[in-house]
Amino acid sequence: MEKQPTASHFINGQYVEDPAGDPIDIIYPANGQPIAKIHSATKRIVEFALESAANAQAQWAAMTGTERGRILRKAADIIRERNHELSVLETYDTGKPLQETLVADATSGADSLEYFGGLAGSLTGEHIPLGESWAYTIREPLGICVGIGAWNYPTQIACWKSAPALACGNTMVFKPSETTPLSALKIAEIYTEAGLPRGVFNVVQGLGSVGASLVADPRVDKVSLTGSVLTGKKVYASAASQIKHVTMELGGKSPLIIFNDANIEDAISGAILGNFYASGQVCSNGTRVFVHSAIKEKFIARLVERTKSAIIGDPLDENTNYGPMVSEDQLLIAERYVAKGIQEGAKLVYGGKRIDQPGFYFEPTIFSDVKDDMTIAREEIFGPVMCILDFDDEKQVIERANATEFGLSAGVFTNDITRAHRVIGQLQAGSCWINAYNLTPVEIPFGGVKTSGVGRENSKAAIEHYSQLKTVYVEMGHMESQF
Ligand code: NDP
Repeated sequence: MEKQPTASHFINGQYVEDPAGDPIDIIYPANGQPIAKIHSATKRIVEFALESAANAQAQWAAMTGTERGRILRKAADIIRERNHELSVLETYDTGKPLQETLVADATSGADSLEYFGGLAGSLTGEHIPLGESWAYTIREPLGICVGIGAWNYPTQIACWKSAPALACGNTMVFKPSETTPLSALKIAEIYTEAGLPRGVFNVVQGLGSVGASLVADPRVDKVSLTGSVLTGKKVYASAASQIKHVTMELGGKSPLIIFNDANIEDAISGAILGNFYASGQVCSNGTRVFVHSAIKEKFIARLVERTKSAIIGDPLDENTNYGPMVSEDQLLIAERYVAKGIQEGAKLVYGGKRIDQPGFYFEPTIFSDVKDDMTIAREEIFGPVMCILDFDDEKQVIERANATEFGLSAGVFTNDITRAHRVIGQLQAGSCWINAYNLTPVEIPFGGVKTSGVGRENSKAAIEHYSQLKTVYVEMGHMESQF
């Protein structure tokens, strides 16, 4: 399969190159070897992308929502037809097993385009009766949106941001993470094939500095970032200096609380999915697993037994269900946190080491006897490191779960329906699950509270973050004044 893209950027409906930009090698995480090379965007490329997005916006917004939606839905169909090819590319880019990318990446992107394509024709304002007079609101696009993505779900992030933006009549300049730049170009190609007018969706490559220059440009009306809290603070501050709209999908250290009446096999499935899917590189992961002390030993024994059955290997083999991490850097971060965990007294019950083979493979790792103040319980690791903490008391576990700057997600496993809702109701998190974990269908809002984010992606809620209301008061009588 050809991994080298036609050119580094996709602007105004076509591939564009500027070899003067700094070269970026794309590495296949399963063997550490380069598979493609691109160039970071130069000032000229950034200017071309913004100019194209600006030129296209009014005409795109003037189309009916149904017309815009038809193009999004057609693009969704093409993504589905090419799912296998797109999934293989995503596996090369991220190292995630094909078993995952076939069901969680391009397909999730297609869902988003289909959902917002379907919604586009019904995005309206409202009529507000005011006695004799009345008012109405017009739902208008924001203008030019900038999307900036993390490297863990590159296709999904490009789609989750562009679909609602485009449905509302905005145009977009998208910058993928420099680590995983390939799939967003394919999405741009597919949009064009589906009939998207030139300049409506543009992709520029580069490091954080390219993202920063897009965010700072006065022509940009909205910034949607998926990334770390540290980057989020910088991007939010830059956008705030020009009062731009923002969506911030940032990091987390989410609690997963398992009560002693839970179905243990289901709870272990939740803990495995919420810690080891995508080799643990998922923002909403339930990395603080609070297990009731009455079931702790049984839970850990069975968890270790099931973790041993992970099929670790070639991510392109569909039997593999645990692949490498995305990069050497990310692996070293996980390694450092494991050393810190051991040093601070947590008990390493499984894994903890780099796997001795080419590529960036790190064992699925389980710590027990983790205390709330340990570094591994406080900081986002963004790797396959699960921390098990004991608890006895419901009120205390809620307080401990909330004692963090983050608030992305939370999960509860219990068969007591009253307790499930009572506990979830008190957890400070934007995306919660009861007797499940990390399921994010497009129909439901996704996003965080506290430092984990601002705004929501997916669902009808995303429309509020990609459009604004114009209010029109209509006087049916006479205009009066004080003198
Ligand atoms: P980073 O914050 O390092 O980078 C995110 C994106 O921002 C990248 O494209 C990066 O470019 C770019 N960037 C970096 N600095 C700036 C800047 N000053 N101005 C504008 N753009 C900038 O995150 P990672 O890519 O390492 O992703 C991991 C993080 O993302 C984790 O914290 C994770 O929790 C979070 N995340 C959140 C999700 C959510 O929905 N809440 C989902 C997925 C991940 P480049 O990398 O090319 O330098």
